[in-house]
Amino acid sequence: MNKTVYTFDPSHVEHTTSGHPEHKGRLERVWKVLEESGLSGRLTRLETPEADMEHIKVVHSTRYVDHLHYMVHQGLSYLDPDTYCTQHSLEVALRGVGGLLNITDAVLSGQADNGMALQRPPGHHARPHAAMGFCLFGNVAIAAKYARRKFGLERVLVLDFDVHHGNGTQEMLYDDPNILFMSVHGAPPFYPESGFIQETGREEGEGFTVNVPLLPGAGDETYLSVFRKVFAPLVARFKPEAIFVSAGYDAHWMDPMAHMHLSTAGFDAMILELMAWADQYANGRLIATLEGGYHVNALAHSVAHTLTLLQNPDTRLEDPFGRYKDGEMHAEELINSIAHFWRV
Ligand SMILES: [Zn+2]
Repeated sequence: MNKTVYTFDPSHVEHTTSGHPEHKGRLERVWKVLEESGLSGRLTRLETPEADMEHIKVVHSTRYVDHLHYMVHQGLSYLDPDTYCTQHSLEVALRGVGGLLNITDAVLSGQADNGMALQRPPGHHARPHAAMGFCLFGNVAIAAKYARRKFGLERVLVLDFDVHHGNGTQEMLYDDPNILFMSVHGAPPFYPESGFIQETGREEGEGFTVNVPLLPGAGDETYLSVFRKVFAPLVARFKPEAIFVSAGYDAHWMDPMAHMHLSTAGFDAMILELMAWADQYANGRLIATLEGGYHVNALAHSVAHTLTLLQNPDTRLEDPFGRYKDGEMHAEELINSIAHFWRV
């Protein structure tokens, strides 16, 4: 049994707007499932103080932070066509990061084995100089850089399995050879239209960014083979001292924002794979942070499974939703379905 810590800040409800997919109901449902299952009480909950600006400014410009201050004072407004902020969004986002840094402290100091920040807004699209794609701060990049600075780690892995490419995280880590960024996501031109295999890093960081874009219809077997055949050998060579996970659940087959066919059991398998890597190379140190996931039930139960496995990977779990009804869409079917568009 692991000591698993988590954060959940009830003030996240202050960052919401009606008719937007990234709304307070997402995390409210997660919390309801955690309470009903008793999981919230079985795990250790950490505080969510507002993060210090010095940590934010490692990846974000002062100009952007100032702009955010200005915008939240306007009340509900839009930072980009997809990304809103309310009067309280800055505080909520800072508390999200503060919670994630507390988990990082607990895990890297040995007080806890692993943990997950149940935070909103998500972070992996936020850019150094701008908000983007529902995200205000680059949560996972901030935490990975913090882990390097505070605990002197030489090799940190950030793995992103959200269905959207973690373009913001990539941008913040692109020239950093000490942080390996690996992402599996819907192939461009799917939002945010980046994450091509050819994007591999810059300067010192060349070769330390790994992108695996997948076509619509990829499911449990495809994702797991990416983990085992593409990612695992690289992890074995890199030997990370800590693993951060951008855990987005929008590749679930029920999710309205994407067209992947992962099941909750598929997410479980990925978490177990990540935990095995963490055990082998990083003394079990795995720190996850919530990104997307827009079918609230699929999200809530998948997150509950993740937390259950983090505490005890031997737990046998039932997938409440089952597999995608037609099974996995294989490459051949996919080619047949789109071949008539081709004129070459
Ligand atoms: Zn996403």
